Amino acid sequence: VLKKSLGQNFLIDQNILSKIVSAAELDKSRGALEIGPGIGALTQQLAKLAGRVVAVEIDQRLLPILGETLSPYPHASVVHGDILKTDLLVLFRQHFEGVDGVSVVANLPYYITTPIIMKLLEEKLPLENIVVMIQKEVADRMAARPGTKDYGSLSIAVQFYCEAELVTIVPRTVFVPQPNVDSAVIRLRVRKTPPVEVEDADFFFAVVQSAFVQRRKTLYNNLAARFFSKENKAELEALLHGIGIDPSRRGETLSMGEFARLSTALRAHGCK
Ligand code: SAM
Repeated sequence: VLKKSLGQNFLIDQNILSKIVSAAELDKSRGALEIGPGIGALTQQLAKLAGRVVAVEIDQRLLPILGETLSPYPHASVVHGDILKTDLLVLFRQHFEGVDGVSVVANLPYYITTPIIMKLLEEKLPLENIVVMIQKEVADRMAARPGTKDYGSLSIAVQFYCEAELVTIVPRTVFVPQPNVDSAVIRLRVRKTPPVEVEDADFFFAVVQSAFVQRRKTLYNNLAARFFSKENKAELEALLHGIGIDPSRRGETLSMGEFARLSTALRAHGCK
């Protein structure tokens, strides 16, 4: 009955469940948003600690089971829907009024891990932290530091909004059915302000993306391909030297601060 296409791998290990829940640092003054409650194993743990719990589940067949597992917890409700199509600002207004801070806590459906995380971060919700079980490989990329093989545009996007830390690595054996990748729990503490100053966040992220289009190429070559024509390529070299960044470096060696400096300089130069 489980739907593989919906990423339905249910957690059966109480130990892991409590690790996830305690990483979210919940108490009765706080709320929890769960994405994909399944049959409610994690939801029940959340309901024991948080003052308010809302769980968004896409699979209608699970709703009666959830109604049963959650019947002892009147402060927990289930919303039937697709998280990617849910207006979260409206959901927050309807369900988390008067709550001190909200955590997202979930064992995510892996086929949409990145879109879910980016939606949560970009919609500027009043979130305290995000504690999620995801593919280990994606967790490694989210938490990666400059100069490592996992560091890329996902690391920078996530770390622009959050402090990322790996909570624990999780073997496949704690799920039914077992997924075919290893998993990890990651905690993202949402920042009040970004760690670097950028005038135009969209342009900043466009610059970051362009630097990783071909990872083996130099920063100069990637930027030239995206922002400069053949005739004015020489200007790029001068621009990079002007901000103290060696054009022969690779994108993966640049810190977020260097990317911020780079996007400011490119923007001032008229690049779009
Ligand atoms: N929380 C449960 C657990 O830990 O055992 C289930 C986790 S399971 C990995 C992912 C859950 O997300 C499934 O219940 C699945 O039906 C649900 N799901 C998949 N796509 C979804 C979507 N777009 N919106 C909301 N829920 C979704």
